[in-house]
Amino acid sequence: MAKIFCIANQKGGVGKTTTTVNLSAGLAKIGQRVLLVDLDPQGNATMGAGINKAKLHASVYEVLLGMSEVASARLVSENGKFDVLPANRELAGAEVEMVELENREKRLKDALAQVAAEYDFILIDCPPALSMLTLNGLCAAHGVIIPMQCEYYALEGLSDLVNTIKKVHAKMNPDLSIIGLLRVMFDPRMTLSQQVSTQLEQHFGDKVFKSIIPRNVRLAEAPSYGIPGVNFDPASKGAQAYIAFGAELVERIKSM
Ligand code: ATP
Ligand code: MG
Repeated sequence: MAKIFCIANQKGGVGKTTTTVNLSAGLAKIGQRVLLVDLDPQGNATMGAGINKAKLHASVYEVLLGMSEVASARLVSENGKFDVLPANRELAGAEVEMVELENREKRLKDALAQVAAEYDFILIDCPPALSMLTLNGLCAAHGVIIPMQCEYYALEGLSDLVNTIKKVHAKMNPDLSIIGLLRVMFDPRMTLSQQVSTQLEQHFGDKVFKSIIPRNVRLAEAPSYGIPGVNFDPASKGAQAYIAFGAELVERIKSM
């Protein structure tokens, strides 16, 4: 049965999508069966996996509204060797349209239950907001992976996210926990990066993943080719870091 993880942080541009796409590809490389769920109307994970978001016959939007099943909406990322439940701008309307539905925060959970046996991991790329979409992600998941940039403002807002996760855990999804914080876009030459990184370790201890993802231009270039960075330039520092992170995650959840 799949382990289902949200990649979440309500801050924009902190590396959620890059992490979701490259972790998916990294896990696929070590033989794991992965479904990436794009839960962001920006559709960046869909595009980053090499799927044209403008030409979808169905997407996570239809799945949330009960108009399609995951099994018929999912596509294969040929470049990443994992499956994708894609998204595009249509998804922005789902927030409003779901208001009238019963159990609206559990729509994704119910939909994923039908395919969970086919995967080892289901990774959900959340939008940069604590919205109904993110809530659907958190209700569907066993855990949250929080990508963080080691900069001064990184810690601001983290408490909102942690509180939201605690509330969801208490009221809606007792399975939910924080799997870990992942340091991304790390620049070892910056003293501030080092300081914030140390602070994170002091505050969150074992919850901080040992793997650190460096700032690496190859990871930023890869999406425009529709190829996960891990496959675009496997020898690059960024790719290597995500592959190591995948292995660390597999180890970490053995003890869960
Ligand atoms: P949003 O909140 O808009 O969904 P996000 O949190 O998903 O953003 P990404 O889209 O993954 O963030 O990353 C933001 C930008 O930073 C992108 O242009 C991406 O290519 C770049 N980026 C992400 N990680 C790295 C990295 N390790 N090195 C260099 N560039 C990176
Ligand atoms: Mg994103």
